[in-house]
Amino acid sequence: MTIRVPIVENILNANDHLAEQNRGRIDSAGVFSINIMASPGAGKTSLIEQTLPRLKDKLRVAVVDGDIATSIDADRAANAGAQAAIQVNTGGDCHLDAVMLRGALEQLDLTQFDLLIVENVGNLVCPASFKLGTHKSILIASIPEGDDKPYKYPGMYRGVDALVINKIDLLPYVPFKMDYFKHGVEVLNPGVLTFPLSAKTGEGMDAWVDWLIGQVKAM
Ligand code: MG
Ligand code: ZN
Repeated sequence: MTIRVPIVENILNANDHLAEQNRGRIDSAGVFSINIMASPGAGKTSLIEQTLPRLKDKLRVAVVDGDIATSIDADRAANAGAQAAIQVNTGGDCHLDAVMLRGALEQLDLTQFDLLIVENVGNLVCPASFKLGTHKSILIASIPEGDDKPYKYPGMYRGVDALVINKIDLLPYVPFKMDYFKHGVEVLNPGVLTFPLSAKTGEGMDAWVDWLIGQVKAM
């Protein structure tokens, strides 16, 4: 007789339950929230760093940064103008989960903010499985990673609400076939909202920032 122990399922169910509680807390404060996911080096922190000054005097922003170690990213967010920046060190875990976000939310008076940005741990696999309770999931792809990532990491591309394609300034220098990339995305996530941009040059940043502001206003 085989007995199957559904450990992973149970962990994910418990996480989903806590994610719902996080959502309740975020909703009752009237804050719009996003969970930014990407591989290491795709530009999560850089995008946040370039977004914050463009929201100055418009939105009050809290940033929660997940990393295995250090507070480098939260420090960068604070320096870029986040009204609050909280670093969550996962102590080795390669993703944020709903318990970790709850711990961060307990440090914040959410009623003081309009927008909550969560920067997940750099990883293209398990962050997709752990809901946090945020409103929208954002995936950042970047040109130097290569055009085959949707084919290799379908779970990540399938579930997200918006896709940022960062580092488009590198397109002339890197063999990246945009049609091939977009075809892979379209199969997994038809019609997903896409923002091609460069956090470095600023090209395409306005559309991304306008979308964020629109989402906050719609709350
Ligand atoms: Mg980062
Ligand atoms: Zn993980």
